[in-house]
Amino acid sequence: MYKNALRGGVRTAKQAWRLKNEIGKLNLEVAKANTEFEQHLCEAARPIQSCYPATATQPQLLNPSENNSKSSCNQNYSYTSNNQKNCNVANHYRLFANVSPSTFDKHSNAHIRRTETAHLNELISSKQFFKVQKQFYRDYSSVSLGASLKNSDAPLLGDLCNQYRAILAYTSADVGPGQKAGQPQQQQTRRAHTQQETRVQQQEEVNGMAQKLEFKRLPTNVVPKHYELLLQPDLEAFTFKGKTIVQVQVKEPTTQIVLNALDIIIEEAQLEFECTKLKPDRIVYSTDAETATLEFEQSIPAETAGVLHMSFTGELNDKMKGFYRSKYFTSSGEERYAGVTQFEATDARRCFPCWDEPAIKATFDITLVVPKNRVALSNMPVKKEDALDGGLRRVRFDRTPIMSTYLVACVVGEYDFVEGKSEDGVIVRVFTPVGKREQGQFALDVATKVLPYYKDYFNIAYPLPKMDLIAISDFSAGAMENWGLVTYRETFVLVDPKNTSLMRKQSIALTVGHEIAHQWFGNLVTMEWWTHLWLNEGYASFVEFLCVHHLFPEYDIWTQFVTDMYTRALELDSLKNSHPIEVPVGHPSEIDEIFDEISYNKGASVIRMLHDYIGEDDFRKGMNIYLTRHQYGNTSTEDLWTALQEASSKNVAEVMSSWTQYKGFPVVSVESEQKGKSQRILRLSQRKFTADGSQADEDCLWVVPISVSTSRNPTAIAKTFLLDKPSMEVVLDGVSASDWIKINPGTVGYYRTRYSKEMLEQLMPAVKNMELPPLDRLGLIDDMFAMVQAGHASTADVLALVDGYRNETNYTVWTAITNSLTNLHILISHTDLMDDFHRFGRNLYEPVAQRLGWEPRDGENHLDTLLRSLVLTRLVSFRSNDVIEVARQRFRSHINGTNLLPADLRSTCYKAALQDGDEKVFEEMLAMYRTTDLHEEQDRISRALGCSTDVKLLRRVIDFAMSGEVRAQDSVFVIVAVAINPKGRDMAWEFFKTSNKQLLERYQGGFLLTRLIKYLIENYASEEKAKEVEEFFRVTQIPGCERTVSQAVETIRLNAAWLERDRAKLSTYLKSV
Ligand SMILES: [Zn+2]
Repeated sequence: MYKNALRGGVRTAKQAWRLKNEIGKLNLEVAKANTEFEQHLCEAARPIQSCYPATATQPQLLNPSENNSKSSCNQNYSYTSNNQKNCNVANHYRLFANVSPSTFDKHSNAHIRRTETAHLNELISSKQFFKVQKQFYRDYSSVSLGASLKNSDAPLLGDLCNQYRAILAYTSADVGPGQKAGQPQQQQTRRAHTQQETRVQQQEEVNGMAQKLEFKRLPTNVVPKHYELLLQPDLEAFTFKGKTIVQVQVKEPTTQIVLNALDIIIEEAQLEFECTKLKPDRIVYSTDAETATLEFEQSIPAETAGVLHMSFTGELNDKMKGFYRSKYFTSSGEERYAGVTQFEATDARRCFPCWDEPAIKATFDITLVVPKNRVALSNMPVKKEDALDGGLRRVRFDRTPIMSTYLVACVVGEYDFVEGKSEDGVIVRVFTPVGKREQGQFALDVATKVLPYYKDYFNIAYPLPKMDLIAISDFSAGAMENWGLVTYRETFVLVDPKNTSLMRKQSIALTVGHEIAHQWFGNLVTMEWWTHLWLNEGYASFVEFLCVHHLFPEYDIWTQFVTDMYTRALELDSLKNSHPIEVPVGHPSEIDEIFDEISYNKGASVIRMLHDYIGEDDFRKGMNIYLTRHQYGNTSTEDLWTALQEASSKNVAEVMSSWTQYKGFPVVSVESEQKGKSQRILRLSQRKFTADGSQADEDCLWVVPISVSTSRNPTAIAKTFLLDKPSMEVVLDGVSASDWIKINPGTVGYYRTRYSKEMLEQLMPAVKNMELPPLDRLGLIDDMFAMVQAGHASTADVLALVDGYRNETNYTVWTAITNSLTNLHILISHTDLMDDFHRFGRNLYEPVAQRLGWEPRDGENHLDTLLRSLVLTRLVSFRSNDVIEVARQRFRSHINGTNLLPADLRSTCYKAALQDGDEKVFEEMLAMYRTTDLHEEQDRISRALGCSTDVKLLRRVIDFAMSGEVRAQDSVFVIVAVAINPKGRDMAWEFFKTSNKQLLERYQGGFLLTRLIKYLIENYASEEKAKEVEEFFRVTQIPGCERTVSQAVETIRLNAAWLERDRAKLSTYLKSV
């Protein structure tokens, strides 16, 4: 998922909430039409023993006569395999054929599984498997999408699945929590089972009373192998109905089936196995555990392959999770709704009853019944379409590979699309709002180029025949990597060449690169549990930069990595309320909360450090081992280390475990001593870095890969070594007394550096004359600001050093300076030093603004365009009269239509016009918002509104954010714009205090709400406010926001201490410049 929606930006579904009570009133015509589908499903499911090849991987328990005589079903077992294609597996079972049934106990069963797993692992990485897979893609590529695939000679993926069912059906779905495939699981299963019973009992006892129960994963006594899923949304009544037929494997005798279900009603359920049809006596829901328990009177025998039929209904909600409605407008202005799914992390259960855990993988045959004039999409290409009565159409999709439930996706709505094909034959389409087809072209270009690039990089072909990207009007995250159908916020995929800024285009390239990386890393190989989420997100966040660097070398994207990912991670990770990359999570509300800078940014940063440590070639080799070995399976962090270790022969696990298992990171203090003419002794020591400078509670020791550069050759690494002790000495040869020494060149290591005074003084001239490379100038200034915040240096001293950056030319270095000064700006807003600080800022930024001017030069480089808008925007906020005057004039010409502003300068000019603008300007901006239909432009305008310094207008901005004119996904960011404006800070917080129920209702928790809370509170700077916020959240419980609140309160206290410590000196310094 791409969580960074901060720069994203639409209209809430205002007249939501029609009718929970209308669920189930779907018309009879539709029901009739569906009987055919049911027939199809039943046919597919009926010959369970002969057609359900999953059983071929398991010892099948049959009556020797193969009569389905019920009375003898549990006696006289023999073992058969009815799928000779899986001969290797079958042969394996034959080895056991002579074993007496009575001795074939659970122990030997476990032994079989162990051996079988080893065998299947071998098979899965065999050349034969890849050969068939490749042939399939070659053949498929000649078939145009939408045509009936049955007409082609190419083997369908479904056929492929049948052929390789043994591989595809055997997943870690068979494995309980904490177990590795092949290990005995009975004990765990039994325990889980007992807990489940207790839970249901408690549920009954409390009868709806809120009682927080300990979270448990689903029991593993019954697991799904394959789902047939039909969904039929009603896009006017905002309901949906569905049916699912799940092929399940019962591992142990049970009277219960526990699965996930939330906000849906299971209307009917029936389990068929062998000759028996069982209906549950009752279905017990637990809203707390988000489960439904089907309770049967009769016990279901062990080793049963059964088929579970369920029909269900639900609301097409407006919460942007599960199966939800997304509002859009037709070209004539008519309001309509699309039906869209968003399942990660745990919301597939809001759409259909399922085993909604990443390790419980299965294959899916998805069918949608939709109005005949709507586009219907899912993970796989269309296999068959039929017209139904009542203006409906039934669309059946091909079978998916084995995959996790959170990656299932469906979209039903009105869209245009552009289509292309990657050079390796994958069909790529980008779906856009109707009439905006050409806005999908940029993403199409990126996606078609990226697929072969990743194929080469990972040395594994993209596993599906098609890749769809689609812009969704109401979308809470930035994008979501559903296999074969990636969903995006409009601003994260659509490019309007005239109106899209370069910065946005760059974000879109990164997002597309990120989601497509997930198709391998996440979808093909999936984390075993959410604790390992960072494997998905950290890795995709690293690879998106590889991809953009490959496609757009002119973006100099690796330098931007440091300000975009690395420094943001360090900032959050220095808090006491940070968390380790690997964090034990259970309940869904906890899972939502870890889609944060630690999983993404720190994850990507430590992977970049590792990449640097083992080198590109071994990194690639290791990735290929990892992906090949675990494809269609699940992994934990150690599996990645093992593969990289094999490839590099370096002790990866030992180096990396401290980075994933400890919270925070070290600060490396360094001193140097010259020995003779050409030797320098470096004395290094490490300890945990804390944002407040205090001694850390934990006694952590990291294994830090350190590299060093010197003025002899600023771009080369002079020495590398591991700092794996609290302190050590290193000798550098060939260094004279006048040479500077830089630790962590390239700012790759995930740590801060604290130089001795002498070493820092030697370095500063190299900053001024830009002898030090950009990433080193950047890292140095960022570390210095962190030392200031921690009280190890004074703000005034560092501001004096910042002056050394006045001649800086590099965009990314300026971004780092700007980020640090923005933090300081917040602090100063609590003092009377604002005018002085503005003067300091103008002095610092004016030279670079003068160099760049307002007009882009011919052939200007990408980074200068970005730098211009950064610097001019800063000068607007530093109240530079000259810049504000030009910006206002340009805004006027833009409004009049005499001279349209380039997209890159619009935010700057909008802010300048609004900052001291009156109601007239405000109305003009609103009018502009209402006339544009480009989401990016609406975003730009609505976020600029918060710049106003007129309190009355700021109040209107909040009302506007909550009105139906701003999409629910964007309201948060409009309010944030008010909250980060010192004039709006209290107002936004007061608004939240009175409206938190409404907001909670609107977002149902989730990271939009956590974002809002973070920005509302973290900019205060007094103990009094910290206490007020704590008290508010103690009384007002908002599940899933606990960590964010603790982090923000900690930041308030850091601000307060910083201010207290530095106020006097800062005042003296700022008044003197
Ligand atoms: Zn992601």
